[in-house]
Amino acid sequence: MFSYRHAFHAGNHADVLKHITLIATLRHLMQKEAGLTLIDTHAGAGLYRLDGDYTETGGEARDGVVKLMGALRAVDRPAAQAVSPAIDDYLDLIASFNPSGSLRVYPGSPFVMHHLLRAESRDRLKLFEVHPTDSRTLSANIGQLEAGRQIAVARQDGFEGVKPLLPPPPSATGSKRALVLIDPSYEIKSDYGKVSACIQELIKRFPTGTYLVWYPVIPRPEAHDLPRRLRTLSNQAQKPWLNATLAIGQDPTHGPDDRPGLTASGMFVINPPHTLKATLQAALPQLLEHLGRGRGKSQAVESGG
Ligand code: SAM
Repeated sequence: MFSYRHAFHAGNHADVLKHITLIATLRHLMQKEAGLTLIDTHAGAGLYRLDGDYTETGGEARDGVVKLMGALRAVDRPAAQAVSPAIDDYLDLIASFNPSGSLRVYPGSPFVMHHLLRAESRDRLKLFEVHPTDSRTLSANIGQLEAGRQIAVARQDGFEGVKPLLPPPPSATGSKRALVLIDPSYEIKSDYGKVSACIQELIKRFPTGTYLVWYPVIPRPEAHDLPRRLRTLSNQAQKPWLNATLAIGQDPTHGPDDRPGLTASGMFVINPPHTLKATLQAALPQLLEHLGRGRGKSQAVESGG
């Protein structure tokens, strides 16, 4: 089985970028009345303890959500700088999972999406997770919610499971709308190729869907090629796209022999809301200001199509 467990990484800078982009995209899509089908092909366990064994070991949230929350929600913080609305929205959502005020729980993408689902079963959420432990934990976590048939969890390969779900069923108003998040761990090299093959097939099945792909920015040819490949696929299908990257740079306290860990990642969005570029252009410089560490830090939002 995979050694990758998202609990080690929950709330790190990559989750911050991913979940801010996801929330901002959903907020826009939900301005329209019509129901949405939301699909998370690589769901993880759903909820993570930030004070648990896994996160103590990795402690990656300390360089992510914990740092951001500390900087932007400190009681004694000078009110000089306005926080970007997308960061504010994200921090509000995280805070709602931590009513005691201290940051103990981090919601993964299934719970971020569930939080935004609208009542009266207008929206549907489909979750895929193959890891036996994580999928059991996810089902148990989802089971605590009063979501009924609005949410379905499948212990199945998300790359395959998503295909028959598109195009989505029409909403009450007759329109078909879907958002798909593809967020593999890329531990297996073949994940890169599977992501682009999956996107190619999904755009063919449902050209108007909104597709969000998270990817690591690491010195590996497949990782380097993935955003380029996604851009080519979007351009060939004449679909607009957006690519947001955040690099927090090297930890200046690390010695030359320390493993640097993941320092940068990106979110590639096909058919992004027209507001997303400006939203992220306001948020990313602030993320860099608070999460950036040392050499190599940068942020960018590009778009096309
Ligand atoms: N999307 C989650 C979030 O934002 O909170 C994090 C997901 S984590 C990066 C990737 C997850 O995908 C892991 O829990 C792993 O077990 C699972 N996984 C790996 N291969 C998969 C596949 N082919 N189908 C579904 N899940 C898979």
